[in-house]
Amino acid sequence: HGPETPHGMGPVPSPSLLRQRQHSPHKGTHGSVIVIGGQQPGPQGTGMTGAAVLAARAALRGGAGRVYLGLLEPAAGTAAAPVFDPLQPELMLRPAAALLHDPIAAQSVTVCGCGGGTAVAALLADVLATCPRLVLDADALNALAADAALQAQLMARLDRGWQTVLTPHPLEAARLLGCSVAQVQADRLGAAQQLAERSRCVVALKGSGTVVAAPGWVPSINPSGNALLASAGTGDVLAGLIGALLATAEAGLEATAQAAAAAVHRHGRCADRWPSEQPLLCASELLNCL
Ligand code: AMP
Ligand code: MG
Repeated sequence: HGPETPHGMGPVPSPSLLRQRQHSPHKGTHGSVIVIGGQQPGPQGTGMTGAAVLAARAALRGGAGRVYLGLLEPAAGTAAAPVFDPLQPELMLRPAAALLHDPIAAQSVTVCGCGGGTAVAALLADVLATCPRLVLDADALNALAADAALQAQLMARLDRGWQTVLTPHPLEAARLLGCSVAQVQADRLGAAQQLAERSRCVVALKGSGTVVAAPGWVPSINPSGNALLASAGTGDVLAGLIGALLATAEAGLEATAQAAAAAVHRHGRCADRWPSEQPLLCASELLNCL
């Protein structure tokens, strides 16, 4: 299956294509993930820096060897960026722009857009030009939807052998496709596939029955997950987890699609295994289950 046999099996997880943990690994063996998003508090701040923190923690819990958290610059005159995450001191915090100009960016999977607000738009062209393996979520998708030049840059990445995963929820997908949410939801398989073909990216169209699509593939519907996931921050956890699985996957479209499908499946399975005596699930608690 794959681009040569487009009517074959969809991008379902295949353990053989995900690099297995070796017997004597070191942290470099498990790849590195950069999360770019969040924003310091201030008049223009989004108040959603927690989204980037959740994605970074999820990347760590998902098995990435090293995780860098690149917070967007604080607005002038506001508090300085935090130097570390007290609950997850393993994370390495740096200004986002500094990370993008470090050789680390070329060797890592980058997850961009969680909780970044409109400030993401200013960095997105650099992210697309610098980061060979990329997960775009939330505000990065909104910035993309609003800018045809960025869309063209996104499509050109596949010609360089660079891989991108888009993780829209139905509203983000509707913005990208220029249609209504109702149209997306009326044909979720078709919408995900259309977005994958147009963008030349792997697409995880989120919601009940997340659809994973890739150019030239038959899309698949993820069977795990439930309505417990319908709460703030669970999408950010998924973005970080996809980053972690990509960091240990082989390169190429096929492995990228399968890593994304594996992450979506694992994320949903955590909700399916949620203890019945706990009626609600918070995204930060989901981290403990990854
Ligand atoms: P976001 O919309 O970005 O916050 O992401 C929400 C996450 O929760 C995605 O992974 C969705 O697929 C998942 N999710 C939300 N609602 C449901 C549902 N009713 N059933 C299964 N998964 C859901
Ligand atoms: Mg989201």
